Amino acid sequence: MFAGFYDEIHEEFREVVREFVAREVTPHYQAWDNAHMIDRSMWLAAAENGLLGLAVDEEHGGMGLGDYRFRMILDEELARADALGVALALHLHDDWVLPAVLKFGSTAQHQAWLPRFMDGSFVSSVAFTEPGAGSDLRAVRTKAVKNDDGGWTLDGQKTFIGNGISGDGALVLARTDGSDVRRRGAESSFSLFLVEKQDNPGYQPGRQLEKMGLKASDTAELFFAGVQIPAANLIGEEGGGLAYAKAILPQGRLGIATSAASITAEVLRQTLGYVAERQTFGQPVNEYQNTRFELAQLQTGLEATQRYVAAAVEQFNAGELDLVTASKVKLWASEQAKGSVDSCLQLHGGYGYILDYPVAQAYLAVRLLTIFGGTSEILKETIAAELR
Ligand SMILES: Cc1cc2nc3c(=O)[nH]c(=O)nc-3n(C[C@H](O)[C@H](O)[C@H](O)COP(=O)(O)OP(=O)(O)OC[C@H]3O[C@@H](n4cnc5c(N)ncnc54)[C@H](O)[C@@H]3O)c2cc1C
Repeated sequence: MFAGFYDEIHEEFREVVREFVAREVTPHYQAWDNAHMIDRSMWLAAAENGLLGLAVDEEHGGMGLGDYRFRMILDEELARADALGVALALHLHDDWVLPAVLKFGSTAQHQAWLPRFMDGSFVSSVAFTEPGAGSDLRAVRTKAVKNDDGGWTLDGQKTFIGNGISGDGALVLARTDGSDVRRRGAESSFSLFLVEKQDNPGYQPGRQLEKMGLKASDTAELFFAGVQIPAANLIGEEGGGLAYAKAILPQGRLGIATSAASITAEVLRQTLGYVAERQTFGQPVNEYQNTRFELAQLQTGLEATQRYVAAAVEQFNAGELDLVTASKVKLWASEQAKGSVDSCLQLHGGYGYILDYPVAQAYLAVRLLTIFGGTSEILKETIAAELR
C-alpha cells in the first residue's frame, strides 16, 4: 500500500508474517500446490505465530487485532511469496467463518469455539453454495430438521467449498422452516450452523474440484446425510441465517478487494523487473513507449484502487462498512486486478503463459475474484438497487 497507510506497529507485525511465510510457507508451497492441499503444519505454525483469528479479543485468548490492516499484511506477504492459495484458505477461515461466530455467536459459543479458531485445531469452511444455489442463496436446499432433544439433523449437498477436504468443519447455511426445497425460501427460512466433521460419519467431503488456479487451497463438494448437529451449534436465532450471511458479506468482500489490490501490486512490481531485464531488438522492453504507457496506466489504476480500498478499510475499522460500499470496492478492485494482471502477462510475452512464472499463476488466481463472494453482476445489482 501507499506510504503512511501502515503504522509502525503494522510494520512490526509484517516482520513476523514475513518470517513465518519464509519459514513455513515458501519451502512447501510447490508441494501443496501439486498435492492440491495445504498441510496442517501451516495452520499450526500460523497459530503459533498468532496469525489465526486475528480479531479474537484478549478475553478469549486473542490479540484483538480487529484493525483490518493486520489482515492485509498477511495478504501482501503471501502475494509477495506467490502463495496465493494460502491467502485464500486463510480468508475463508478469518474473513467468513470467524466473523459470523464473533458477531452472532453466544457467550458460550465464544468460549467454546474462539480458542479453536486460533490454535489451528478447527480449520473452517464456509458452506453456503450448492449446485443449484450460488448467487441466489434463497434457493438453498440443504435442510436441517429439529430433533426432539433440540439438536438438528442435516441433509443436503454443498459445492465449491474451500478447505472442504482439509478442514474440520463448516459454517453451513441450511433451510430450517420445513418449506418445500424445490421453491425459493423466504428470508426467514434459513439458519446458520457450525458443523463439525469429527464423529459425524454423515459429513462426507466429495470430489476434490480441479480448479484452474489457486490449487494449493482444496475446494470440494460436501455431502451431509443425517448429520447430527447439537443445539449449541446453531448460530444466533433460528431463521436468522440469511440475514447473518448478508451481515458478514462486507468483511468477506473487503477481503477480496484487499487481495485483489495486493496481487496487482505484486504482479506489477515483478513486471517492472521483467521488462527492465528482457531485451528485444537490442534494447530492454521497458524502453518502448507502449511499455512505458502501459506501466503508467497500470500504476495509476493501482494507486486509485489502493486509495479506494484504504477508504473502505477505514470504514470497516470504524464499524461503518456497509454492504453497498463493500460491493463497490470489491467490484472495482477485482475487475481492476483482472485487467491489470492480464496486461502484465502480456508484457511478459510467451513467458507470461508459462505456469512457472508467478504472473501466470496470478492470472489464474485473480480470475476467481470477480466470481467468488458475489459475482460482479450480483454486485452491480446490489449497487444499482441503491440508485433507484
Ligand atoms: C474456486 C471457488 C471457490 C469458492 N469457494 C466457496 C466457498 O468456500 N464457499 C462457498 O459457499 N462458495 C464458494 N464458492 C462459490 C461462489 O461464491 C459462487 O460460485 C458464486 O457466488 C456464483 O454462484 P454460481 O457459481 O452458482 O453462479 P450462478 O449464480 O449460477 O451465476 C451464473 C452467471 O449468472 C450470473 N447471474 C446470476 N444471477 C444473476 C442476476 N440476478 N443478474 C445478473 N446476472 C446474474 C452470474 O453473475 C454468473 O455470471 C467458490 C467458487 C469458486 C469457483
